[in-house]
Amino acid sequence: MDFTEDDDLRHIRRAVADLAGRFDRDYWARHDRDHVFPWHFYRAFADAGWIGICVPEEYGGGGLGVTAAGVMLETLAASDGAMNACTPLHLSVFGMNVVAKHGSEELRRRTLRRVATGDLHACFGVTEPDAGTDTSRISTRAVRDGDVYVVTGRKIWISKAGESEVIVLAVRTAPRDDEAPMRGISILLVEMDSPGISVEPIPKMGRNAVASYEVTLDDVRVPVSALVGVEHEGFRVLLDGLNPERILLAHEALGIGRASVAAAVRYAGERRVFDRPIGQNQAIAFPLAEANARLDAAELVCRKAAWLYDGGQPCAREANTAKFLAADAGFFAADRAMQTFGGMGYAEEYGISRYFREARLMQIAPVSQELALAYLAQNVLGLPKSY
Ligand SMILES: Cc1cc2nc3c(=O)[nH]c(=O)nc-3n(C[C@H](O)[C@H](O)[C@H](O)COP(=O)(O)OP(=O)(O)OC[C@H]3O[C@@H](n4cnc5c(N)ncnc54)[C@H](O)[C@@H]3O)c2cc1C
Repeated sequence: MDFTEDDDLRHIRRAVADLAGRFDRDYWARHDRDHVFPWHFYRAFADAGWIGICVPEEYGGGGLGVTAAGVMLETLAASDGAMNACTPLHLSVFGMNVVAKHGSEELRRRTLRRVATGDLHACFGVTEPDAGTDTSRISTRAVRDGDVYVVTGRKIWISKAGESEVIVLAVRTAPRDDEAPMRGISILLVEMDSPGISVEPIPKMGRNAVASYEVTLDDVRVPVSALVGVEHEGFRVLLDGLNPERILLAHEALGIGRASVAAAVRYAGERRVFDRPIGQNQAIAFPLAEANARLDAAELVCRKAAWLYDGGQPCAREANTAKFLAADAGFFAADRAMQTFGGMGYAEEYGISRYFREARLMQIAPVSQELALAYLAQNVLGLPKSY
């Protein structure tokens, strides 16, 4: 929908689509099937400057905002790479946004230039076995010992941990207090090759070119200079990762939905059953038209959320709404595409089953649909807190 895009955004869309077009469906099917990280793709995007799209210009980045990164990721998600193409980039974008916004000058100087060149990979470590939705329950501890923190705990589902040089790590520096449950969380930027860190991939349903890992931290010594923002006030810091993460993932859900509709429309025009194209049947055509309408509506909220974030305005309502609507619209589109393809949707050949698996993830992570609604019920509608 062009009226939401100026020339710069249109240029981003074209340039990203051109570069992504060099990596075809076979490339992604092979990497997904063999569980191999897409290094060639990653390097091509790093060399073209896309990884550093949101890194401030003074550190060699593009200095652009979440709106531009959203269009980049939506375009990538709509390519044959889908989420396997997005995740290697998005972690460096929203993960390191936290450091760009709240890190000390020394931390920024040490890391952001290398993020911009694609040489420093970052992952984002919040989720734990007993704390996914309820971040206040994280129990990974960082205990001060002179000029280091000693960190012990376990994180799960940390995407790209095995390929990353640093992890943006949420820890407890003070015990949980029922009166202020988010206080006492701090953010550390930890080197992944620190003694005491081990990683183990978690077998999972899709997006298999990019593994997600269990990360164990056993008495890991982290310099106090690695603290991002203010000690105990890390949740505020984290919001500069979480809101962009919701907005960007919403754009990715849109992209997968667009790719699904486009593939289904092509197939519906070509596939003939009972002597006519299946797209002539309203039972096939209407769901695809509905999928398109849902994507168009979700797109508007995605753009608004990104625009508000980039303008420094409150955006939690729009970030949660965008995530909720786009995740549903993306999965609806992938599901309808699978129905359109019939048996060939279930095969690997056309990539529809890959879209289906990846679009489903958006309803669970980075925040579940239920928790996005819980936020809106409480903070927008003023209903009692439900958790
Ligand atoms: C492939 C993948 C990649 C991921 N990558 C990362 C990553 O890089 N870094 C990271 O930190 N995390 C990552 N995650 C974790 C992800 O953010 C969590 O899985 C997600 O936040 C949900 O948490 P949970 O799995 O612990 O679910 P739980 O908290 O156990 O919840 C289970 C279900 O119960 C529902 N529920 C819980 N409480 C309520 C309530 N009060 N009301 C209504 N419903 C409720 C939830 O909505 C959910 O559907 C990833 C997950 C996956 C699957």
